[in-house]
Parts: sequence; structure tokens; C-alpha cells
Amino acid sequence: MPPAMAWRLDIAVQTPAHAALGDLLSYASPAPLVPGTLVRVPLGRREVLGVVWNEPSPLDDAEPDMALKPVGAALDALAPLGDAWRDLVAFAARYYQRSIGEIALAALPPQLRDLSGTQLARRLKRKTTTGPVAETAEAAHPVALSAEQTAALARIEAEAGTFLLVGSTGSGKTEVYLRCVADLLAGDAGAQALVMVPEINLTPQLEARFKARFGDDAVVSLHSGMTNPQRLASWLAAHSGAARIVLGTRMAVFASMPGLKLVVVDEEHDPSYKQQEGARYSARDLAVWRGQREGAKVILGSATPSLESWHQSRPAEGEDPGGRYVRLAMPSRIGAGELPTVRLVDMNLQPPKTVLSGALLDAIGQRIARGEQSMVFLNRRGYAPVLACADCGWKSECPHCSAYRVFHKIDRTLRCHHCGFTERVPRACPSCGNPDIAPVGRGTERLEEHLAELFAAVTRPDGSAVRIARIDADSTKKQGALESQLAAVHSGEVDVLVGTQMIAKGHDFRRITLVAAVNPDGALFSSDFRAPERLFSLLMQSAGRAGRDAAYLAAQGATAEMWIQTHHAQHPLFSALRKHDYTAFARQQLEERAAAGMPPFAFQALLRADARTQEAAQAFLNAASTAADALAGAERVVRYPAVPLAIQRVANVERAQMLIESPSRAALQRLLAQWQPLLHALRRTPEGKGVIRWLVDVDPHSI
Ligand code: ADP
Ligand code: ZN
Ligand code: ZN
Repeated sequence: MPPAMAWRLDIAVQTPAHAALGDLLSYASPAPLVPGTLVRVPLGRREVLGVVWNEPSPLDDAEPDMALKPVGAALDALAPLGDAWRDLVAFAARYYQRSIGEIALAALPPQLRDLSGTQLARRLKRKTTTGPVAETAEAAHPVALSAEQTAALARIEAEAGTFLLVGSTGSGKTEVYLRCVADLLAGDAGAQALVMVPEINLTPQLEARFKARFGDDAVVSLHSGMTNPQRLASWLAAHSGAARIVLGTRMAVFASMPGLKLVVVDEEHDPSYKQQEGARYSARDLAVWRGQREGAKVILGSATPSLESWHQSRPAEGEDPGGRYVRLAMPSRIGAGELPTVRLVDMNLQPPKTVLSGALLDAIGQRIARGEQSMVFLNRRGYAPVLACADCGWKSECPHCSAYRVFHKIDRTLRCHHCGFTERVPRACPSCGNPDIAPVGRGTERLEEHLAELFAAVTRPDGSAVRIARIDADSTKKQGALESQLAAVHSGEVDVLVGTQMIAKGHDFRRITLVAAVNPDGALFSSDFRAPERLFSLLMQSAGRAGRDAAYLAAQGATAEMWIQTHHAQHPLFSALRKHDYTAFARQQLEERAAAGMPPFAFQALLRADARTQEAAQAFLNAASTAADALAGAERVVRYPAVPLAIQRVANVERAQMLIESPSRAALQRLLAQWQPLLHALRRTPEGKGVIRWLVDVDPHSI
């Protein structure tokens, strides 16, 4: 006789439904499985992984249980996911307007879906080498902390909550994280720490530092560059408590860590903490929420904090009680390395068509003569952003997007950076036959070529030729390419490094004494109000790559320099940058934002729609806006008119968006929650018919 199905279980499975539509599925079970248990359940014709979400409820005899399908096997070799973890997932689902199942299942390692209970039990057995953290050789002889590091550490130890550690590049923030983790692990046998970095390519460096300090077994990584078996192994180690330290990118914020006591978000301002597809969560913001929920300390670290975090850490003043975060400052660079001198080149005073000013070329030449390295930074890859015909005005437009295809000289292609459409470069103008079509503007490829030409006749101190290298998304496509190119820079095989923002972040180059940004003006007048904030932090980060080794500078008799070529040398952003004065920049930006009622003084969401025509996309948004009029509290939320996105058409799909804004986060959230069922219903009306997809982006990064 089959077992009696005595219990009803609410289970989260991967469905796109939103909470407001009821996104948990009910199943019948002979046993009252506890919340957090992983189970297999039938869904349509498949069997899928699910998580028991709520307390089981008894099925009374009168209730016909035939309506409910029975659950499949429970993965009971695994401890159930904890309350705190489920709370985090539920909060993220509610806040970012997605389903619990979507977030929960995306947070679990993909291999869990395929393994049987016995296979899993075997994996778990293999991974039970727990124990106390091994004092390593490095841990036994730690560096003596600077006064600023000591003071920051003391506050973190003494207080609870969220800390904003504002430390110049090279001020020793990572050392502070290491000490906090060390103190935590020494004092609490079950404690775990989560340390997040924005980019996968910064994880190996950090992993090496943490493993050197705490031993290999204590540390695991979690990021999307790992194989599925690696991810499962890391995840199991975190979930079982065997791993004391989890390092990872934004996805790691959802790691199951029963002993979580400390969360570090390094480079907290970095835009890559915001997921840009699917559930558009901010891992930084979720980290703060998670810390509060679990009573874990949270350290947000940056040389140029996001204006949100900066504002949230403002000291009390007059009527203003101040922000909720504790602000800690470490302005000095370790080893007395001065921050680089910032030199502005006014490009209006240069001969027309100047790419690199004479003064900058001289300065790079001097570096080459002394055997030092320079870094030239341009945020645009490819050879030229446009190919054009001077006779008829033809331009290399993408047939599928409202954008130009970029000319890549290396393989003689025109490539669309939005939809990927790629063609061989035509021999002559496709429109008039003129054979003389020419690149317009400049990307990293062309800059590399230009520098190679300029320094072709120059020799290095030992008489050999000058070595120019380029690092960008194109040069690093192959597995391992980035590592080997970075290694070449570190070992001194490169004199001038050209690259995109990829080279501006994090890397601890020791022999670079000059950094140049050759064309940063685009961001000064962008329609996106966050563009200046991003530019400022990118330039500060870039500057941070120069002169990191004070002893090397002294031995060379060199000073570190940051060069900026601009047509707007008087812009206040540059005067703040010259003084490395983040505070002045932040004050000016926050004053503007306060006056305009923009974040962090207001809260935003975007409703976006994609359709075959721009009219159809906007019609859906306008109908959605009208539908929202009737919702409770709608008057506290401003809905702006629907507009096309800056790049309006991508891959033949027209894109439009509507900005929604309120001075109250709660009011915005209330409206969004009520709106979801209406938006789903709208899809079935004439206004919704033409829409291919729509989405809500809460706290959007670029608008
Ligand atoms: P940040 O994370 O702020 O950029 P790091 O923690 O990477 O800075 O420190 C920069 C460099 O200074 C590293 O090489 C690090 O090993 C070294 N360092 C950090 N703290 C100290 C210290 N107290 N004494 C000596 N060297 C230190
Ligand atoms: Zn032509
Ligand atoms: Zn395209």
C-alpha cells in the first residue's frame, strides 16, 4: 500500500511567477519535511529540484489529496537550508519583484539538480576535513598595522552593524579585512566570513592572499568562472561550515553559510555588484540586509564609495541624526607612496586631431628611458567606433540595432557590440563604391598601433625595441589569456600598456609610474546622472595603479603621475580629482542630487518593455501607468513618460522604459508589489500583445 499522504508542503521551484501571483507550488507528502529541505518534485513531465519553503500543514481526511502531486525523494543527506537563508531569498524576491523559486534555485549550485541522494552523500563524505584554522607561516608573522589601520580595526571590533571603510588605493584595506577575519575565526569556532569582490579576475589574487594567511582548506571561492563540480564542492563546504571563508563575486551573497558573522564587500561602489539580467539584485545592498538579519558585521570598502553608501554614513549634524553606517577613513597610502600628481592637458590648446599630446608623449618617453612602465587607458575597444565614406556619408551602421558597428582591424571585421552581428569589412563603400572608406574615432587597437608607430624609433636602455601591449575584452577572450598578459606586465616585459577599464581596477602593478586617460570626456555630459560618479571613481582607480611601490619610486628617483587629456579642463570633477578629494566631489554631487530629488534622496525603479515597434513598447508602458493610477498610494510615486532607451533598437527589438520615482522606498515598494498582477494581466490586452518581454529594475544603475 502506498504511504498515506498526510502532509501538504509549499515548495519553491524555478518558475518565473512573481510572489504576488503565488509562486510556491503545493505537493503532498507522507512525512512533514522541515522547511529548507531540498526535494525532487514532479513539474509537468519533468522532475525538478525544489526547496520546502514553509512549515508543513496536515492534510485532513476530508481534503481530497488527489489534487496534489506527491513529492519525490528528499536530499536528506544535506542539512536543510536555514531560516536566515530563506529569509534572504524571500526578501530579495519581494524587493526585486521576482519569484522566490527563481532566486532560490539560481542561488544553488547547478549540479544539485542532477545528483541523487546517494551521490550527494558520497560527495559530502569526501569533504569533511574540517577542524580549526591552520596557523600558516604568513599568519605567524603578520605586518605591523599602520595607525590608521589600527584605528579602523578597533572600531570594527568594538561596534556592531555596517561600516564604510573609505581608504585610498593602497591604504591597506585588504590587510584590515584579513585581520578582521583572523580575529573572528580565532574567537569563534563556528564563525564564517564572506568576502566579495566585483570581478572574477580579481578573485585569484585575493584567494592567494587569504590562503596564504589561513591555509588552503579554510578558504573556498564562488564565482561563475568555476566548473559545476568546483561550484558544488565550494557550496557544500560553505553550507556544511567546513569552509570558514567564502570569497566570491556577487552571486556569493546567496551562499548558504550557517555561521556567518562577517561580510566584506570590497570596492563596494563597483557597478558589477548589480546583476544586469534576470533578477536585477544589488549584491552590495543584499549583503547589508543579510548582515542585519543575521547579526553579522558588514564592511563596505572603497576609495570612492558609492554616493548612496557615503550618504548613509554621514555624521550626525544639527537635526539630522546621520546615517546608519559607521564611516572609517584611511587616507594614507602604505609605505608612504604619495598619490600620483594629476596633470590635465587642455586638448583645446593642442593642434587639431591630436591623439596624444606632445607633453604626454615626452613623459612616457622619459619612463621608457628609465625602464619604468606606463599605462594608457581608453574606454573603448576595437580599432575605430565607426567606419565611414567621405563621398556619400555611408557609415557602418548595424542593420539590426540603432548603433554603429565597430571596426576591428586585427581580423578586418565590422562587429556590433550590442547584438554581435559581424561581417568582413567591405572593400569599397557598400553604398557608392568609393574604395576609400576610413575609420573615424579611435579604440584601444588603434591607440596601440599609434603608440607603436610613435615609439618605433625609440629604444629601451638596453638598446632593444619598446614593447607595447594591449589588454581588453578582445585580447583576453581565450582561457588564461588575461592571466598571462597580466603576468607579462608584472614581470616587466611591457613598457606601455594600453587598455580599457579592465586594467584600471585592483591590480597591484609595482613598476607603473604613469597612468594616462586619453579621452574621458564622454561621461561628463551623459544623460545618465550617475555617469560623473562612475567616471570619478574610474579615474581615481586608474590613478591608484601608479606609484604603488614607494621603495621602487625612491630607487628610480621618479614621481607617480596621472595624466588626463580633456576638452573641459575647468570641470569641477577634474579639480576634485587633482586634489584626490573624494569628499569635495561627493559634496558637490550630493548637493546636485538633493536639489534635483535624485538618489540617494529618492528611490527609483524602471519598467522596461521590448517590442517589435517602439509604439508597441511605449503603448504597453503607458497602459501600465494608467493602470497604476487606481492603486493605493499611487500619488506618492511619480511615473515619468515612456521613452526609448539610449540605444533604442538592439537585434531588431525596440526598447522603451518608464522611470518610477518616490522619496519613500516603502511607497515605491508598495506600488510595485500591487502593480505586478496588473502588468501580467496587461500582457493579455491589446496593449500587451505586441510586447516581447517586460521587466522591472529596482534601484536601476543606469537610466
Ligand atoms: P588596498 O586594499 O587598500 O588597495 P592593500 O591591502 O592591498 O591595499 O595594501 C597595499 C599594499 O601594502 C600591499 O602590498 C600590502 O601587502 C601592503 N600593506 C598593507 N598593510 C601594510 C602594513 N601595515 N605594513 C606594510 N605593508 C602593508
Ligand atoms: Zn560612399
Ligand atoms: Zn547590432
